[in-house]
Amino acid sequence: MEQIKDLYHLAGLLPEEIAAIPHIGPSFRGMQIFKWIASGVTTFEQMNNLPKSLREELSNNCLVRSSHISQTLKDPDGTIKLQLTLHDGMAVETVLLTDQSDRKTACVSCQVGCAMKCAFCQTGQLGFARNLSTAEIVEQFLYLEEVAGPLDNIVFMGMGEPMHNLEAIKKAVIILTHPKGRNLSGRRITLSTSGIVSGIYALADSEPVIRLAVSLTTANPQLRQELMPVTLGNPLPELKKAISYYTEKTGKRCTLEAALLAGKNTGQDSAAQLINFAHGLNVHINLIPWNPVEGLPFQEPTPKECKAFIEKLEKAGLNVTLRTRRGRKIGGACGQLGKTKAP
Ligand code: SAH
Ligand code: SF4
Repeated sequence: MEQIKDLYHLAGLLPEEIAAIPHIGPSFRGMQIFKWIASGVTTFEQMNNLPKSLREELSNNCLVRSSHISQTLKDPDGTIKLQLTLHDGMAVETVLLTDQSDRKTACVSCQVGCAMKCAFCQTGQLGFARNLSTAEIVEQFLYLEEVAGPLDNIVFMGMGEPMHNLEAIKKAVIILTHPKGRNLSGRRITLSTSGIVSGIYALADSEPVIRLAVSLTTANPQLRQELMPVTLGNPLPELKKAISYYTEKTGKRCTLEAALLAGKNTGQDSAAQLINFAHGLNVHINLIPWNPVEGLPFQEPTPKECKAFIEKLEKAGLNVTLRTRRGRKIGGACGQLGKTKAP
């Protein structure tokens, strides 16, 4: 159970686990408290169907939230980035994205930093500090709902490699999809991995089913290894097999993401290699023009470069989207998280 420094972190617990906390009383209290947490309350006083004595007991040994908002940044395009300070003083960032149809998506982090060292990503430059707990993951979602109202989707595309913290994520998904709690649909939850093969198999075999995105970046093996060291232990042919297993097992299409780096992976040869990789797979291609990260030796692709790349993929019959740029003014776009320091 999520119990750090002798305090239970309630946002990471299921009703039966809350009921098992000493002195909670009859087991239905577990469900009552679980529902309160999912509804977004931040204090025990607000849980007005609990006896006062129980609320006092709870405030002595439990936390409604284990983290707090230490910074809020708003981009004129509607993107909001929150920096959360965790119980041990570390910080993570979480982002709210709003699309043209006003659908709201929480982009959630799963680690403080990231160990994967992708050459083009800000978070990758930080190195790895620690995994987040289930409570810390659920709390990001709850804080974003507090700021922006009910959210439609969650993407595990914030800081960190989700496959290296899969158990905590799976439990957060069970909590957020719980019919008596926030009751989100698994179809509205997506996890993005740098391409950890064993994790893709594990995800395919877990319940509830959630969507998979894989950061392919390029299907050129040498270039991918240079840009994404994960390729060494997770070679492209194995990655392709794992994606195929996921789509067949779950019946869901997988998204292949590619951050487009000017002059690196945007040429016609790169497009041909990507087409070859996608051949025979049930995939959708999502291209992300590189978002600038200070100090990194890459350039944003030109609109012309993007257009030629997309045309080649589409001619081959692939389904392609170009991700709209959002949150760049607040360092809240893909690959930019982790710049804000704790105040
Ligand atoms: N760690 C996970 C998810 C977070 S990154 C992963 O790597 O899949 C979300 C997406 O942004 C990934 O596809 C990643 O390759 C891409 N990305 C990383 N840095 C970027 C940058 N500076 N500009 C654009 N996309 C970037
Ligand atoms: Fe980590 Fe994803 Fe950034 Fe790679 S792109 S360093 S896996 S956060």
